[in-house]
Amino acid sequence: MPALLAILLTQEEVAAKEEAAKLQFRNTMSAQFSGKKVTGWLSKASRSIEQLDNEAGLGRTPLWPDRGDVIIGGEGGTGQEGGNGIMRELHEEWTQLSPAEQLDCCIEYLRKTFCYCLFCGVKFDGIVDMEKNCPGREVQDHNE
Ligand SMILES: [Zn+2]
Repeated sequence: MPALLAILLTQEEVAAKEEAAKLQFRNTMSAQFSGKKVTGWLSKASRSIEQLDNEAGLGRTPLWPDRGDVIIGGEGGTGQEGGNGIMRELHEEWTQLSPAEQLDCCIEYLRKTFCYCLFCGVKFDGIVDMEKNCPGREVQDHNE
């Protein structure tokens, strides 16, 4: 078998794989949610996170709804400079994510921290309760 043909075949294979990966990405991220839905879920998710964080006595994070009142800002100034620095970095990282990725983080955070499923709209008593009563992590698991 000519070496050149082998190279060509490999390249084609690579291209096919890349195409498949792209398709898969489209299926997982965008097909799961259309753009509008992402924004809708995202704002719902961040409001839930704010509420649950508040109830748990946790401070503001970039996952809370963005009201323009950026996290950083020295009001109150309790001398938590280090904390503010981390929050600023987190916030910068956060703003670089796509809405779909942000939503993914929110879903993960809600489930891990509060055993809350965004799509069920339920805060479960614990992981066992959640695994038993929530059909899954993805939105399509919740299609009636
Ligand atoms: Zn659920």
